[in-house]
Amino acid sequence: MKYDKEMYLDSGIYGYGDEDISCHKEKIVKCRKTHECCTCNKEIKIGENALHESGFMDGEVVNAYTCIECIEEWLEESGQVELDEE
Ligand SMILES: [Zn+2]
Repeated sequence: MKYDKEMYLDSGIYGYGDEDISCHKEKIVKCRKTHECCTCNKEIKIGENALHESGFMDGEVVNAYTCIECIEEWLEESGQVELDEE
């Protein structure tokens, strides 16, 4: 992970707020089993970090994992981090 943990948690990658998802929880987890990244559909392997989101939206359970690379890409694309390159 290249950035502070808070950056990943506050990335806003899905554009949802706490008002959209009830009981919304976001945390960085170390995967104890494999998960599919909900953004790029790549496999997140055991022992790798991922952003885990859970809660309820429109009566449906939200239980999503996003890989660290997707979040880093989003942080860079959305200008939330300063890139070193000129
Ligand atoms: Zn991904």
